[in-house]
Amino acid sequence: MPVNALYRDDSYLSTCEAVVTAVHDDGGIEFDQTCFYATSGGQPGDTGFLERADGSKIVLGQTRHGATKDIILHVPLADQAPLTLGETLVLHVDWARRHKLMRMHTACHLLSVVCSYPITGAAVGEDESRVDFDMTDTIDKDEVTAKLMALVNENHPVYLQWITDEELAANPGIVKSKNVRPPIGLGRVSLVCIGENSAIDSQPCGGTHVAETQEAGQIHIAKIEKKGKENRRFRIRFGAPVDEA
Ligand SMILES: [Zn+2]
Repeated sequence: MPVNALYRDDSYLSTCEAVVTAVHDDGGIEFDQTCFYATSGGQPGDTGFLERADGSKIVLGQTRHGATKDIILHVPLADQAPLTLGETLVLHVDWARRHKLMRMHTACHLLSVVCSYPITGAAVGEDESRVDFDMTDTIDKDEVTAKLMALVNENHPVYLQWITDEELAANPGIVKSKNVRPPIGLGRVSLVCIGENSAIDSQPCGGTHVAETQEAGQIHIAKIEKKGKENRRFRIRFGAPVDEA
């Protein structure tokens, strides 16, 4: 049975009750529903813990998809107590970590607005994220930071709009990423929209984001690296720019 991935409709849900529907040989646990994000689209899966009825805890080291996107495997650290099928637990996402990932992920979208080049790769991290662009131009990182912070401070709303796989197929131009597949295969695709009526941006993405740009907080471009003739790697970090002189 496909898991009910609650974070798709509410990225701020940090806990939920769930029933164990499968326990795999490698330790991966499936639930009927979950608020744990599974690694995909450049965003790492959630960590956290499961709370059993007796109050004991099972610590989760990672969350990933199984053979299909309908399967979400919650993988405990080594030497955790085994679970039983049908057991009801409370799932707790490590919220401090996830919120940083949501801020960073949203910052990556803002960067794609400031730098309107095709994206060739991206990785969201708790402390640093990187986005690779297919571009040959040289750009000043402080200028990019200033434009990013303008978007943050203007506090645009960030929200999802759902379209069907067919609607996306009919509008391939809305996909900025050259080699990251949009989250199709579930029948519906979430568009991450920034600004009233998507005035700033709209992009297919299955990750988790903050609700308004101001929540991304102080961010800056720490580095722009040349990775090949037509590839530039931008590194985003939290905090104010650090003077390297
Ligand atoms: Zn996203």
